[in-house]
Amino acid sequence: MAVPLLDVNAQNLPLEAELEAAFRRVLHHGRFILGPEVTSFEKAAAEMLGAKHALGVSSGTDALLLAFMALDLGPGDEVLCPSFTFFATAGTLARTGATPVFVDVCPVCFNLDVADARRKITDKTRAIVPVHLFGQSADMDAVNALAGEHDLHVIEDAAQAIGARYRGQACGTMGDFGCYSFFPSKNLGGFGDGGLLVTNDDDLADRATILRVHGGRPKYYHHLVGANFRFDTLQAAMLKVKLPHYADYTAKRQANAAYYTERLRPLPGVVEADPGHCRCAETQSEWIEKSEAALVLPVAYGHNEHIWNQYTIRVIGEGRRDALRDFLQSREIGCEIYYPVTMDQQPCFQDLPESSRQRCEMAHRLADEVLSIPIYPELTEAQKDEVVSAIAEFVDAPVASSHG
Ligand SMILES: *Cc1c(COP(=O)(O)O)cnc(C)c1O
Repeated sequence: MAVPLLDVNAQNLPLEAELEAAFRRVLHHGRFILGPEVTSFEKAAAEMLGAKHALGVSSGTDALLLAFMALDLGPGDEVLCPSFTFFATAGTLARTGATPVFVDVCPVCFNLDVADARRKITDKTRAIVPVHLFGQSADMDAVNALAGEHDLHVIEDAAQAIGARYRGQACGTMGDFGCYSFFPSKNLGGFGDGGLLVTNDDDLADRATILRVHGGRPKYYHHLVGANFRFDTLQAAMLKVKLPHYADYTAKRQANAAYYTERLRPLPGVVEADPGHCRCAETQSEWIEKSEAALVLPVAYGHNEHIWNQYTIRVIGEGRRDALRDFLQSREIGCEIYYPVTMDQQPCFQDLPESSRQRCEMAHRLADEVLSIPIYPELTEAQKDEVVSAIAEFVDAPVASSHG
């Protein structure tokens, strides 16, 4: 049985009639850019997240760029961001002319290592960009404490974490700006590109609103240079149809993650990442060596609500990760390496000053070890069992009973 990494139709087609009705409504009123559905979607999203202002934008990438532009980051500014992330986090920083400074990550939650961020602060550092990778919050108390000490802006890259929570607060609402993506593979998957920018600051919201439409206010009078970051009405109208189902999608992802963990845990050589060792790369490595782990399962910290955009395992041992990937692919099981190349290794960043692209040890190690397996909400039990038994076969173990 084939198990795709993601099946957008399984989520969208049950809503076909409502989606078509939404499409027809917009077709007929004809206000295709920043129309009435954009405003009502922004209101609903702000409410769900507990944010004061929400702006629909053209993509998650543009949400980041718009946030950086609204904060006036640019040449001469250094901005801390994780080395292990999707390219857009660092790419948008570079596009403002600011210098991204790459920070190592925690081997347990895959997020920014705040102690390493602290070591890399200089008198030019102006902001920090925590990424809530794979759907789990970064350590926001530590990030905000560091930011407070050094007067840094905090821009949360919550592209993979819409609705995830840290000590009860929504990811994306704990800094100056939060940035989300509706790319179809994200948890609230849209019908093309789209994104959202949120803030609790009235002045920043106002600047971002102006910059979203080329910086003009009134129209054709420009005190700021912005760009076209506008949100399509069709996108908003169709996403509004999915929004009431979002909590259910999340619950199903969480159930899938628990299902995997429960069935993979008993296999020989399979261990769970040890939350006690967060932010201590050395101890973590030692622990893995000692436990003779072959696979490390992901964990959610008790204070986080993890929304499982990805279920990412670590495959220990030279060449083992690629071997598991090939094996799963031979069984028609979708899997993907998020991400095979760290930011400090990207060819386009080799011209940055050496101090900003110091080798990030744990990030490099993760890039060699990680593999994400199917976790989307509509997976059937039979599909999950197929994934588990393939992994069991790979680690050379009898298949754990899936029913008892
Ligand atoms: C997807 C993603 C983005 C960019 O979002 P797009 O909508 O694809 O532009 C930025 N950061 C992270 C961490 C992402 O996963």
